[in-house]
Amino acid sequence: MMRFAYLGSGSKGNAAVIESGATRVLVDCGFGLRETEKRLQRLGLSADDLDAILVTHEHDDHLGGVARLARHHQIPVWLTRGTLAAWRDAPLELARCISPHEMFIIDDLQIQPYPVPHDAREPCQYVFSDGARRVGVLSDAGSVTPHMRAVLSACDALLIEFNHDVAMLEAGPYPESLKRRVGGSLGHLSNVQAAGLLGGIDCSRLRHLALAHLSETNNTPQLALSLAAAALGCTPDWLVCADQEAGLDWRELS
Ligand SMILES: [Zn+2]
Ligand SMILES: [Zn+2]
Repeated sequence: MMRFAYLGSGSKGNAAVIESGATRVLVDCGFGLRETEKRLQRLGLSADDLDAILVTHEHDDHLGGVARLARHHQIPVWLTRGTLAAWRDAPLELARCISPHEMFIIDDLQIQPYPVPHDAREPCQYVFSDGARRVGVLSDAGSVTPHMRAVLSACDALLIEFNHDVAMLEAGPYPESLKRRVGGSLGHLSNVQAAGLLGGIDCSRLRHLALAHLSETNNTPQLALSLAAAALGCTPDWLVCADQEAGLDWRELS
């Protein structure tokens, strides 16, 4: 059985858990140590249940809590060389460097990393498999490449960034420079871009879609859910949003 959950997702902190059999990994950790332990507990886990932390890139909402969590619980951290180079307080003895083009294995999980366009040193995202099912994770990408479409096709579950509504970003309170960064090709996926990705890949096996990294300023769950539902031709109640505070409770792939 595979299952996944979120400790939380959004610009103030991100962390997801992916589990297959007895293997459990955390994707990113943008929360402080006590907060992370509290949120893990909410999911029935303790930090000692984690076999690895996989990092997508060095931005604080993804990497900010990783060093303390890894050191305190002696958890290995998998990441690209570029991300490691950009990480100031890296626990080098716990770092395991990967190529964003090569599959690797952590116990029961096969993990396919893939590069994404984002304004970080060497950002990558991950697709997880137990050999039969596939769970694709994507956050923090400014645009969608053909390679991303290929890697994310035919997944059983997708955890996808729906960051902002373009009109809300335009009319919102962010300074011009930040608006350009978020909306740019190395920024974050808009609802329309994320929905376009779903419309451009094989979703025939898809049983779970979790929308993630929603901006609290420039988006609403209702807007994101309605665009995702339209792209898939389903009703919005079939879909879920990962929340900044509440995260997302376990979803099982039987
Ligand atoms: Zn980022
Ligand atoms: Zn982020």
